Amino acid sequence: MNESLLIQPSLAIPEHLVGEVQSKLAYVDEAIRRAVVAPSGDQIEVFLFHPVSSAEAAHIDRKVQQVVETMAKGAFKPKVQILEDKLDIATPYQQDPMEELLRRGEISQEAAGIYTLGPLITHLMDYFEQHFIELADSFEAAPYRFPTLIPAEYMERVNYFRAFPHSLTFATHLRQDIDAIDHFAQHAACEHGVLKTPPDSFAGVQTLLSPAVCYHLYFALADKHLPNGQLAATAVGNCFRYEAINLTSLERLWNFTMREVIFVGPKDYVLENREVARQRMQRVMAETGLAYRIESANDPFFIGEFRKQAAFQSAFQLKFEIRARLPFKDSTLAVGSYNYHQDFFGRHLNITLPDGSPAHTGCVAFGLERIAFAFLAQYGLDSAAWPQHVHEAIYG
Ligand code: ATP
Ligand code: ZN
Ligand code: MG
Repeated sequence: MNESLLIQPSLAIPEHLVGEVQSKLAYVDEAIRRAVVAPSGDQIEVFLFHPVSSAEAAHIDRKVQQVVETMAKGAFKPKVQILEDKLDIATPYQQDPMEELLRRGEISQEAAGIYTLGPLITHLMDYFEQHFIELADSFEAAPYRFPTLIPAEYMERVNYFRAFPHSLTFATHLRQDIDAIDHFAQHAACEHGVLKTPPDSFAGVQTLLSPAVCYHLYFALADKHLPNGQLAATAVGNCFRYEAINLTSLERLWNFTMREVIFVGPKDYVLENREVARQRMQRVMAETGLAYRIESANDPFFIGEFRKQAAFQSAFQLKFEIRARLPFKDSTLAVGSYNYHQDFFGRHLNITLPDGSPAHTGCVAFGLERIAFAFLAQYGLDSAAWPQHVHEAIYG
């Protein structure tokens, strides 16, 4: 019986894909508790929740090999473009803030990836959000409120199920059948955090929990001419991405909050505004004192879609991430992104410009919990050590 497995991939994982492959290993088998790809890319250590037989170990090995092959075979290293580099800004704190946040009761965990946030983080999220709202105002972006639920039908129309199946969260309800509801009421009980009830209690899935904010705007514009030919909008919303065993701290949540500024219109309008937004944010980032870098990136596409889609995004410079430094682990974390979708949503949802051509779209998206977490990782929980601007804005 094995409690951990050492796997030699038949194909060495190129350095630039080590993180991407490791994050996908979370979805390979329910027995996997943690997977670590060696930085050299030629060895994978998989830790299991429970011992497995050699036949089961061989099965996991096969599935891991397949993920590596699909993601790494023929992959070439994209040229990483760096637009801003402020990673060397000196920051005073070196610890992982999680332990101290939990100890002080500033956060409490409800379940994996689900946290209640106390005043410290709430103040910081509000502080950063105020800056994002000012950015939105500088474009006279129209304010929107979007639901947390999103219809499966729309998600299908934009190929979401193919691109990101692993991170979906489904919302359902009991069937409108008095026997099913009565049965549920009498017998529903949780076992190890899992609700035990016959699967046929539930209705078919019509809705999901929303993984992003801007989709709702595109859905609202579907099958329409864009009035005025262009639109700037902004909204904040709850977003959901199931990131399995990667849901280990505030860095990666199942349920998080995103503020977006969204542009819809002709290509030049979207690209120019994405760039102006980045330039305006440069001053804001300096005020907040964050050490960060802006670099080209790709979305976390699922295994089969990854190679092609990631190469496409990088070839056309569709995504740039604001990556804040996490000193305690000597790495960086995406706290926001500048995205250009070309006319993808315009074509798939039939959003048209006055000349009849499909609209282009782009968005600037900020993860509020993440930016607050990165700030605490750099400056610590004691507000006396924070940059003066941040301290004054929050505590006067
Ligand atoms: P990552 O590469 O870290 O998985 P992403 O590239 O998928 O993130 P985007 O789709 O660009 O993220 O979403 C915009 C922002 O939302 C991110 O920059 C991040 O701040 C935040 N975000 C995304 N996923 C999560 C998550 N699971 N938990 C907390 N914040 C998140
Ligand atoms: Zn968006
Ligand atoms: Mg990313």
